[in-house]
Amino acid sequence: MVKLNNCLVGFLLCLFSCNSVKKGMIYHEIAVIPGPKIESGVSRQLAEYRKTVIKDISYKLELDIPRLRKDKIEALEVISFQLNVNQYPLQLDFRENAAKIKSLRVNDKTAAVKYEAEHLIIDTEYLVSGKNKVELSFEAGEGALNRNEDYLYTLFVPDRARTVFPCFDQPDLKATYTLTLKLPASWKSIANASLRDSVVTGDRKAVYYNTSDTISTYLFAFAAGKFEKATGHLAKGEAEYLYRETDTAKIKQSIKEAFATHASSLKFLEEWTKIPYPFQKFGFVAIPDFQFGGMEHPGAIQYKASAMFLDAGATKDQLDARSNVIAHETAHMWFGDLVTMNWFTDVWMKEVFANFMADKSMEALTGKAVFDLKFLVDHFPAAYGIDRTQGSNPIRQDLDNLKDAGTLYGNIIYHKAPVMMRQLERLMGKDRFQQGVREYLLKFANGNASWPDLIGILDKYSDADLQKWNKVWVNDTGRPVIDYELEKKNNKISKFTVRQKPEYGDDRVWPQLFEVKFYYADHSKELSINLNTDKTDIKEAEGMDVPLFLQFNSSGQGYGLWPVDGKMLPGLYHIADPLNRASAYISLYENMLNGRSVTPGQLMDLFTAGLKKEEEELNIKLLTGYLANVYWEFITPKERKTGSAQLEELLWEAMKYQSLPNNKKLLFKAFQDVFLSENGRNRLYEVWARQKAPQGIKLTEDDYTSLAFSLALRSDKDTEILKKQLARITNADRRKRFEFIVPAISASEAIRDDFFKSLMQKSNREKESNVAAALYYLHHPLRQATSIKYLPESLRLLTEIQTTGDIFFPQNWLQATFSYYQSADAAQVIRDFLKQNPNYNPKLKIKILQAADNVFKAGVLLKK
Ligand SMILES: [Zn+2]
Repeated sequence: MVKLNNCLVGFLLCLFSCNSVKKGMIYHEIAVIPGPKIESGVSRQLAEYRKTVIKDISYKLELDIPRLRKDKIEALEVISFQLNVNQYPLQLDFRENAAKIKSLRVNDKTAAVKYEAEHLIIDTEYLVSGKNKVELSFEAGEGALNRNEDYLYTLFVPDRARTVFPCFDQPDLKATYTLTLKLPASWKSIANASLRDSVVTGDRKAVYYNTSDTISTYLFAFAAGKFEKATGHLAKGEAEYLYRETDTAKIKQSIKEAFATHASSLKFLEEWTKIPYPFQKFGFVAIPDFQFGGMEHPGAIQYKASAMFLDAGATKDQLDARSNVIAHETAHMWFGDLVTMNWFTDVWMKEVFANFMADKSMEALTGKAVFDLKFLVDHFPAAYGIDRTQGSNPIRQDLDNLKDAGTLYGNIIYHKAPVMMRQLERLMGKDRFQQGVREYLLKFANGNASWPDLIGILDKYSDADLQKWNKVWVNDTGRPVIDYELEKKNNKISKFTVRQKPEYGDDRVWPQLFEVKFYYADHSKELSINLNTDKTDIKEAEGMDVPLFLQFNSSGQGYGLWPVDGKMLPGLYHIADPLNRASAYISLYENMLNGRSVTPGQLMDLFTAGLKKEEEELNIKLLTGYLANVYWEFITPKERKTGSAQLEELLWEAMKYQSLPNNKKLLFKAFQDVFLSENGRNRLYEVWARQKAPQGIKLTEDDYTSLAFSLALRSDKDTEILKKQLARITNADRRKRFEFIVPAISASEAIRDDFFKSLMQKSNREKESNVAAALYYLHHPLRQATSIKYLPESLRLLTEIQTTGDIFFPQNWLQATFSYYQSADAAQVIRDFLKQNPNYNPKLKIKILQAADNVFKAGVLLKK
């Protein structure tokens, strides 16, 4: 973790001077640089050394991809680069078996293959100071090729290019790539660069791509296989879209929209940054069961197919999510792809800008009121979900070796960082913030930059103390707990004092701007507060009439655990502005978790009372989500059993009462989530069996699939239900997904045991998004009595999962496993594991503490 020393004098100065020392060393004192150690992964030391001696890299890569998944991929590669000083053996990254290297020639001479700790080592005798050429023939590694029966795709972020071909796998050694793919003639393919030529010979073809733009190894990508192709016009040229969807309704509803959303995102980014789309071509591909929502390879963006292809039954939430992921990946073309972090310590910068710009482009489309509400609902609960735990991490984290880079990703960088960025923009003013960011993009275009580089530029545009601000928001964990005192005299406010203290740890202050709203019988008044110390007297409030109640963080921009005025609760659903209500729901839930102001039972009653009254879709989503959390995690199984029939009835009534289709659907989904009664089962079974949704709701094939899973999970008396549902699915990729998940839902404990055992094999964990879905059912509260035995092994497997899986998999694995446990026994399993492994990888340990936090909190709250 980046815990900066207490030296307030200046982290900026310190880093800047370190940088200049490094620069000095490159050109004048090269002899004193120590040779890099040979160790597995890509160490920071190796990366820094290579950055000082290597430049002007280009890769020529040819891959011969056979039709059958089991057959090897033969590869040829030429790496050209400039070596400033030929002093130490050169390390090429290749995390594979040395036997896969067939031949190695360096500067036209055959060289011996020397392989150590995931590196191909080239001795100085073969190299020269100046231009060098390394030629290899080898069998490609398959660690990040995602090979399927009739398609494959690369996914190299953060350091997995080195699992496929030898390279300098670090983000600040950008290079060009000239790719040739040899493929079955009927396959289609997409890569970073535009197509130069394609030659068919019998049932094979060779596809020659132009030389790519200059990009980092983690952004080099291609996909090939049985895909359909659509084309459109984007970024001043023809753009291609590859997909495997077969459902004509989805295709009809989705392809035009995908191009249109990209077009509006590109337009917004070009205008905001004043930099035209910076790469030679635009293209994207929808991948079935893709590991992430999307990945920003220039010219070949990858998306999860199920999020891209929606039909007429899609909710507003799904449509928004699709627009959002497209805006996010498009923003990366500038933030991340054009200007890239030096090192993955600053991976959060590309993610925060992608999210922040996606939000901004949405604001331009929908207006401020929708934006404010969506920003609150999208980011704050997710950020609090990590930052309230003992395992929280700062936005900016240290990283010694790229092999651990995946552990840096999580809700802090995706959700707390945008909150921080919005506070920074508010502090600086929108125009000055935009000017600063533009200067940063222009200055570092096609290169690399760090957070100190950016904040150094922003500092010029700001009057505030950004260094002090940066320390607590970016380099530190946690959030403040806010409290207040209100003194009254003759029905007027005589004194209003606001205090903050950290939820955990030492004295710290989060400087921030937020709003407090005072509610009266016939009007309300909102004050903006700048809280930059631990205690502030709000002079503006003095002399105001005493309100009926007040609401902290009414506008939802402030970050922390906000106090709740008990007098607000009876009037909660009379608050007119949906933004204010959403902020109140979030504060109430956070306080409940902290054992402050409201108990789980009270919160259940309060939130169910809102199911008919709340009409804003995003707020209903928030309420039903919180209700489900409290229901499964913070009340006892006995309380659930006695209370479920009533809750089901309230949800069903509210569903009928609400008029908007999406609101109805959210309530239907909530009903499906919580039902336990016979009556509830019969209602849902009718819907599923007749494929007839309640009036006013559209259900899609995916909805009926999830309904079948929910019924089967409760050991439905229709034991054939899953077979019948499978028979309804025609798309081959979706059938595979279904068949994978089914054993995790089986009524037979032995089948579930076998399923869990099968996950010990890496090959059975390849479709990570399907594994996470299956684990959710396997560890569902209704199955926990028999699933608790999987917990120790699930923890033991985590290290292997981190090494073999993609970046989000460790946390998805943990979340899907632990999210719903509430028993003391489950908490003990986690405590025992941590106790027995005192030297456990700290980056994985915090992931465990994050995922297990509700299990520990349940222990406290259920005792009360
Ligand atoms: Zn991203």
